[in-house]
Amino acid sequence: MKTVNILETPIEYLKGVGPVRADLLKKELKIFTFNELLHYFPFRYVDRSKFHKVSEVNSDTVYFQIKGKIIDMHKVGQGRSQRLVATLWDETGNIELVWFKGIRWIIDKISPHKEYIVFGKPNYYKGRYNIPHPEIEETGAAKVNLGERLQPFYYSTEKLKSKGLDSKGIQKIMKNLVPVVKDHLYETLTPEIIDNLKLLPRNDALVNIHFPQNQQILNRARARLIFEELFFVQLTLLELKIIRAEKIKGHVFSVVGRCFNDFYHKNLPFELTGAQKRVIKEIRADLGSGKQMNRLLQGDVGSGKTLVALMNMLIAVDNGYQACMMAPTEILATQHYNSISKMLKGLDINIRLLTGSTKAAERKIIHHELQNGQLPLLVGTHALIEDTVQFKNLGLVVIDEQHRFGVAQRAKLWKKNVIPPHVLVMTATPIPRTLAMTFYGDLDVSVIDEMPPGRKPVKTVHFYDKDRLKVFGFMRKQIKEGRQIYFVYPLIKESEKLDLKDLMDGYESISREFPLPHYAISIVHGKLSSKDKDYEMQRFVKGETDIMVATTVIEVGVDVPNASVMVIENAERFGLSQLHQLRGRVGRGADQSYCILMTKDKLTPDGWQRIKTMVSTTDGFKIAEADLRLRGPGDLMGTQQSGIIDLKIADLIKDEKILQYARTTAIKVLKNDPHLKSKENEIIRKQLAYLNKNRTDWSRIS
Ligand code: ADP
Ligand code: MG
Repeated sequence: MKTVNILETPIEYLKGVGPVRADLLKKELKIFTFNELLHYFPFRYVDRSKFHKVSEVNSDTVYFQIKGKIIDMHKVGQGRSQRLVATLWDETGNIELVWFKGIRWIIDKISPHKEYIVFGKPNYYKGRYNIPHPEIEETGAAKVNLGERLQPFYYSTEKLKSKGLDSKGIQKIMKNLVPVVKDHLYETLTPEIIDNLKLLPRNDALVNIHFPQNQQILNRARARLIFEELFFVQLTLLELKIIRAEKIKGHVFSVVGRCFNDFYHKNLPFELTGAQKRVIKEIRADLGSGKQMNRLLQGDVGSGKTLVALMNMLIAVDNGYQACMMAPTEILATQHYNSISKMLKGLDINIRLLTGSTKAAERKIIHHELQNGQLPLLVGTHALIEDTVQFKNLGLVVIDEQHRFGVAQRAKLWKKNVIPPHVLVMTATPIPRTLAMTFYGDLDVSVIDEMPPGRKPVKTVHFYDKDRLKVFGFMRKQIKEGRQIYFVYPLIKESEKLDLKDLMDGYESISREFPLPHYAISIVHGKLSSKDKDYEMQRFVKGETDIMVATTVIEVGVDVPNASVMVIENAERFGLSQLHQLRGRVGRGADQSYCILMTKDKLTPDGWQRIKTMVSTTDGFKIAEADLRLRGPGDLMGTQQSGIIDLKIADLIKDEKILQYARTTAIKVLKNDPHLKSKENEIIRKQLAYLNKNRTDWSRIS
């Protein structure tokens, strides 16, 4: 296709750009070519045919367009803080327009008592609205200039603005771009898909996204481009899955042997839940199929995922393979190691722990035993996937606590054996469906949707700091009844020192409220040595202390069924999934448990929303959805995932329906033509190759 060349033209050759702006476009927005500029979409459109009255100005609408007369104009202040204030009048009232820059130019341009069209974003200041730096044009002139009804707004940066590329400036160069490339745009979807979903052709969509003729076409342009974007992501993920299934053989775990049976009959302290049994069956079917398993195991905090994982690891061992479990943090890895070691007590199955702080001598033993096959089970952190760690025969990898291991990281595991190991990814906080489809679209999914019996939902209440005494009173009552209590302080990396001080102050005041010898308190935080940490934890686990004062180090894994109260200080500073994880530490025994969220008196709207969500539901899926809405997908999944979630137009929250269509369509296309070999699908195949040329690390694995 010759036509591609124009689209690939370096951006400096576009009229109105030149070397300086080109440089900035590359640095600030990663726009190198015509095509990339064309795919820089507006984030908002404002209907410039609509006019508001002064009295209608409020904070609900972002941009206002008002017709009125300038009845006063004067300078205020001196020197650098000087500004120009004009008063715009219409029959409903006055509003001030303010300029801090370009004052002289504005004074020249505006004459009193003529009618103007003013357009801008109101600002609420000292009890009233003003409009800083509005666009302003004479009513007559404006008609000519405001050619487009719907004005697009583009994100820009300070640096780009300084070179004239604010939203308006970007629109100007877009005006130069679109006519040049318009006739060279090619279709990327088959006529069948386009007809079925009544999509706008690609060239119409790309033109109208920048210069919409009307709202209706704009909606269709957006829908088309959102669909296209999501469709190709889904296609990539699903194709990856197909290639894997075809080319990658899986280890076959055919027997259930001594390890599994010994554990099941001698050490398993309780009956498995129905959901656990079902999921173990699903996983076992994969492990016996001869195909490599890539499965996502979803289940709320406390639903018993670790056990499911362990039982499958034991099956791997029974079949002569090694298995490992990987956790995102050292503390979590250590806790897994401890709890699994405990569960395997007396069974003569060797297990070790490998983390960043494993001593050289131990590390050497681990490396050695992994290579000669003496070590069947290993628990650890990222340290496990380092190239220096070589297994004799790795058969199963379990990845706990999701989020931080994306497609790319998982791919790295496949190099750990001639035949890649089976992979089980466990997610403690449920992931909203849309995210799961996007981030784990290449995986099969199992869900544990049942809690172990006898669990009562945790009662969650919100208290302001000023009601602290009530909380202390409640704690005393609970301790009297023999319960134990967590008291958690936030720990945020950037202000670690301050947080630690908060924690120590808190510890002191709690010690005063709950004095020895009547009460005993443990304290655990990140600055303690692992030995001290462990000692303090153990005291609490054994019931020797009543209260555990801690930072979020206890977030995951700790398991003390007798602890029935979780008090969270400065709860407004925690994210929703973190709060949910913390709450999951209690409610593990037969007693009614409580989660007490303490906050300062004034909350931000987001903070308030989080507290409200926590108080109103214990359903992890609902919490995950709320979290997604509050934080957005990028933040939720962590930056490592940004490669795949680099979505230009689709919004995983708002576009769930289109995502569903995109996935169904991709499945259908691949079902008929798994490698997109048909003539008909050629355009799809080409576009997929074009899009994925920078993602070779994981998309091309075969
Ligand atoms: P998750 O990792 O899913 O958050 P865990 O695997 O840590 O949950 O399990 C939470 C607690 O529930 C652990 O104490 C575990 O021993 C216990 N547990 C797991 N399965 C069952 C079961 N079927 N019946 C009773 N308790 C269980
Ligand atoms: Mg867990």
